[in-house]
Amino acid sequence: LLSVRDLSKNFGDFEALRKITLDVHHNEVLCLIGPSGSGKSTLLRCLNFLEPYDSGEVRLEGELIGWREGGAVPRRALAANALRRQRQGIGMVFQQFNLWPHMTALGNVTEALMQVKGLSRAKAAEKARAALQKVGLGDKAYNFPANLSGGQQQRVAIARAVAMEPRLMLFDEPTSALDPELVGEVLSAMKEMAAEGMTMVVVTHEMGFAAHVADRVAFLDGGRLVTVTRPAEIFGETPKDPRIQRFLQTYR
Ligand code: ATP
Ligand code: MG
Repeated sequence: LLSVRDLSKNFGDFEALRKITLDVHHNEVLCLIGPSGSGKSTLLRCLNFLEPYDSGEVRLEGELIGWREGGAVPRRALAANALRRQRQGIGMVFQQFNLWPHMTALGNVTEALMQVKGLSRAKAAEKARAALQKVGLGDKAYNFPANLSGGQQQRVAIARAVAMEPRLMLFDEPTSALDPELVGEVLSAMKEMAAEGMTMVVVTHEMGFAAHVADRVAFLDGGRLVTVTRPAEIFGETPKDPRIQRFLQTYR
């Protein structure tokens, strides 16, 4: 579904991503782990061109994301409307929920559908209800964000993204801002999406989720992709790369 080839990204002299090559398959859950500053967020942001990358390419179902096709140097970014169309295929959920505070849960999802998909209010509201139902918030549709728990707010944000029917969902530490007792409900909603076949790339510090829900786990260190492998290889007893060992020790 998604192919990343030799993706590199610098911030000035600093090499944030170094020649990342990675495929994400249809219906796959890929968890991205690694130390702070290893480039996880940067990689995720390059996938939907929130961050323009310097070299290499990202393709979603063969279509080059962000840059004009043809590989001319210097490369030119796509026109805003083309980029917007591409991003519609890629949903993203951040650590901060970014809900509109003056709108209800239902309003948040409905408004996004109207703006992004150009649906009528009635049609958008119908889809929004279904999306809220899916994340277990059918009975909170008329709550404003201030009257929802963090976990519920994040589930609204997930519903808002999923309602767009993206081909791929990106999550950047979706549970890091939550109180521990609220993490589970968000992870369950994500697990359910995974079971329904949504393709997901998830940056997470939840090693349990990575171990049990991910089809594959990618470990990033210093802007390099150290390994992409089955969770058992990373979390099992088999000897592994010392960098991974060191990283996992911080979670014990
Ligand atoms: P964390 O687990 O703390 O979220 P991360 O793996 O997501 O870390 P990134 O946010 O991708 O790390 O950052 C990778 C590196 O790139 C860091 O060293 C960071 O300081 C640097 N970096 C990120 N964004 C910028 C920027 N806009 N300008 C300069 N440097 C940046
Ligand atoms: Mg990050």
